[in-house]
Amino acid sequence: MSIQNKMFQELKDKTIFEQARKNAYAYSDGIADMDVFPSDENIENLKAFEEPLNDEPTDALDVINMLNQYGGPATTAQTGGRFFGFVDGGAVPVSIATKWLTDFWDQCGGLYLTSPINSKLESVCEAWLKDIFGLPDETVAGFVSGTSMANLSALCAARYRLLKNQGWDINKQGLNGAPPIRIIAHKQVHSSVKKTLVMLGFGSDNIEWLEADKQGRAIPETIPALDNTCLLLLQAGNVNTGGYDPFMEICPAAKKAGAWVHIDGAFGLWAGACKSLKHLTAGMELAQSWAVDGHKTLNTPYDCGIIMCADPEALVTSLQANADYIIYTDQREPLLYGPEMSKRSRALELWSVMKYLGKRGIDEMVTGLHINAKRMGAGLKDAGFELINEVVFNQVLIKCSSSEITKSVLEGVQQSGKAWCGGSMWQGEPVIRISVCSWATSAEDVDITIGLFAKAKQDVMSF
Ligand SMILES: *Cc1c(COP(=O)(O)O)cnc(C)c1O
Repeated sequence: MSIQNKMFQELKDKTIFEQARKNAYAYSDGIADMDVFPSDENIENLKAFEEPLNDEPTDALDVINMLNQYGGPATTAQTGGRFFGFVDGGAVPVSIATKWLTDFWDQCGGLYLTSPINSKLESVCEAWLKDIFGLPDETVAGFVSGTSMANLSALCAARYRLLKNQGWDINKQGLNGAPPIRIIAHKQVHSSVKKTLVMLGFGSDNIEWLEADKQGRAIPETIPALDNTCLLLLQAGNVNTGGYDPFMEICPAAKKAGAWVHIDGAFGLWAGACKSLKHLTAGMELAQSWAVDGHKTLNTPYDCGIIMCADPEALVTSLQANADYIIYTDQREPLLYGPEMSKRSRALELWSVMKYLGKRGIDEMVTGLHINAKRMGAGLKDAGFELINEVVFNQVLIKCSSSEITKSVLEGVQQSGKAWCGGSMWQGEPVIRISVCSWATSAEDVDITIGLFAKAKQDVMSF
């Protein structure tokens, strides 16, 4: 049988899809009992994939079976309730179902003509996001792979505008001989922002680095006088402490001066969608651009990042794509709002989560992360850990009486297989960083995790 006929056959008899579905359900049903980080044995078994590419086609069912047999056990249990690493969210069930359905659509999301539904849902999500975050009317949104790409898109727009302010068209004249842009950032901005600055040719030595306070927030008094050649980089949610820069104290003057303020709010911007947490983001609406993820706090599947920009001309011109074969319509053209051309129609899943939760559901889910983080922080403090941060959102940062003990306790928890979180460095010292970011984390999961920490500490101390 030709490959083409084989493929028609597979689509028709559905065996591989039924198998994948069964495996997926078994995975989901077993998530609470599986190791949160895979065992050494399961990692070892990944060697099964180290084989030369086969000369002949493989049976499709064998492909699925192999992936399920060796791949499933070597996953981290991100969709369970006790994965607390890297600010990684879980996935709201309806978004997984949306993904399954729309996988069969396989929409190329770049153009209206390749996917009218993606174009429509991008517009809808744009309007909804503007509404829940209270952003200016002129704001447009682009749907990209994550906040790294959103930061890149935003800073392209900022570079365009800040040079244009000085009579320079970056798109035509390029970087050689361009007037300088002053870039002001505090030392606690996220690594992806630093990476973006380097990628865009600004150079890390050309940044005016400001000190941050003990919670990793900008100190308003340290910010120099700004003008319309300045790019100020702020943050909603420090990746270690969860701390928010005081936008209300900084943004009004920055806006008045004509500076471009960009806010990286990968996970933290969502506080702005919650009644009891909204104070954290107050004033953020005065910025020019914002980067946020769906795949962290909002628990959409990967990859889902959003660039929002109150200067549509700057965003669209700096990311422009022109070729004779690109056909623009009078409808929304998704590729104008981000660096990618062909792309996943990720707005479909974002739409499904927002539609499913509604404003109240988003508030309840995101506030729930905060409540669990508070519980975690308080419980760990009671268990004798030093709580380093004010738990203002979903991040909990702790350490023990010495760096060695901190590291050993972290290892103990990681090796328990019952919970997983990562380490970080804070003010020169190793620390443990717990990010409560999944809808699936329950109060019981938090208590189990506190117990794991207490036991790991006891083990280390009695060793
Ligand atoms: C995760 C994160 C990023 C990077 O986002 P990706 O979605 O991983 O590209 C940027 N900034 C902050 C504060 C983050 O937490």
